[in-house]
Amino acid sequence: MQNSYTTLPEKFYTKQRPSPVRSPKLVIFNQSLADFLDVPFDLEVFAGNAIPQGAEPIAQAYAGHQFGHFTMLGDGRALLLGEQKGFDIQLKGSGRTKYSRDGDGRAALGPMLREYIISEAMHALGVPTTRSLAVVTTGETVRRERTLPGAVLTRVASSHIRVGTFEFAAQFGTTEDVRALADYTIARHFSGIADRENKYLLLLQEVVKRQALLIAKWQLVGFIHGVMNTDNTAISGETIDYGPCAFMDIYDPATVFSSIDTHGRYAYENQPKAAAWNLARFAETLLPFIDVEVAQKAIAEFWVLYHEYWLAGMRAKLGMLEEQPGDEARIHEFLASMQQSQADYTNTFRALTLSENRPQAKALMQRHNPAIIPRNHLVEEALHAAEHDDYRVMSELLNALRNPYAYTVQQEKYAQLPVPTACRYRTFCGT
Ligand code: AMP
Ligand code: MG
Repeated sequence: MQNSYTTLPEKFYTKQRPSPVRSPKLVIFNQSLADFLDVPFDLEVFAGNAIPQGAEPIAQAYAGHQFGHFTMLGDGRALLLGEQKGFDIQLKGSGRTKYSRDGDGRAALGPMLREYIISEAMHALGVPTTRSLAVVTTGETVRRERTLPGAVLTRVASSHIRVGTFEFAAQFGTTEDVRALADYTIARHFSGIADRENKYLLLLQEVVKRQALLIAKWQLVGFIHGVMNTDNTAISGETIDYGPCAFMDIYDPATVFSSIDTHGRYAYENQPKAAAWNLARFAETLLPFIDVEVAQKAIAEFWVLYHEYWLAGMRAKLGMLEEQPGDEARIHEFLASMQQSQADYTNTFRALTLSENRPQAKALMQRHNPAIIPRNHLVEEALHAAEHDDYRVMSELLNALRNPYAYTVQQEKYAQLPVPTACRYRTFCGT
């Protein structure tokens, strides 16, 4: 394990060892991801009680716009152990850091398992995302509204560089700090442009493109992130920070799950807008190197790319094999009728796939319409059992989510909708 992040100026991070925990116990381990990364199983490492060889744990400094307001942040309860095969290995819930503010630096079991389940499901759905390697309980409790079992999640990401990392550099550092971060980012994620003259513009364009693809994929599977703040926007284009996120059941563009999103800033239909806004914050940090108008054009390109990816995805979902001039209007009509009849988003496309009789269209639809998503009630059920030491429900769910486009018999029971209740589903930040 190495840590290339420490080649950046010192203001970008603080060296910090994890705080040991009393009695770690394994809850779940991602063997196939561990094999891919060549990371050995080590409970003490996943608990923060031991440091792997070559690791140099750091808390990263970053800032961010939270619901539109700029603030200094940083890893308040996470530590980057180092990189393995180019991927960040990070502990979440590993104790206080310089950036913890009033937080305890810890995490509760439920939210960490939630991140594990949903991030792994997103990966299987083909949506770029951070991954989850392990969850261990700490043998300690954390105090939230209730007292809860404590846990540590080991998270894997292409990197943890965020729009907020650039904002931190621009606000609290010098132009040379921003340049150092941009060069590091290019070397790590976009090495092909490293020797190009206009590499900072190309960086912006690449990040715009990845965000456009990411958000299109979210919209197409009905995923709502919930806290699209700039500190939760990864430069790599991966979904990051699974807090109050959830998948939509009934199709309604205004859907909001997060209890803290009182104005619906990050509602389903607002996600593309939020991403474009976040990209503008990113572009601003690069203005020492890019002409303003050129940067504005690069941001505007988000909408072109997003629309292209979204339209192509919707056409595939509906089995439109050949492009027709009226496709887009028909898609919007279809969505409007789904909304009006309060149809379930995933199951409607699943039913269309199952009833399709043109083999080529059916195959295309099957590849784009998941038969299973991590529905809120299923995730809650799995978490509830896990909190009572029964991990079977979760492991069965994880198995079914591993290949969401398989349309297996085992997946059928997961297509059942939640029993309607009077209260709307609400999610809370993973603190
Ligand atoms: P999030 O909403 O999870 O993206 O977190 C926003 C900020 O709060 C990040 O800087 C986190 O590191 C920090 N944070 C969240 N929970 C805690 C906690 N329990 N202790 C310390 N910092 C935290
Ligand atoms: Mg965050």
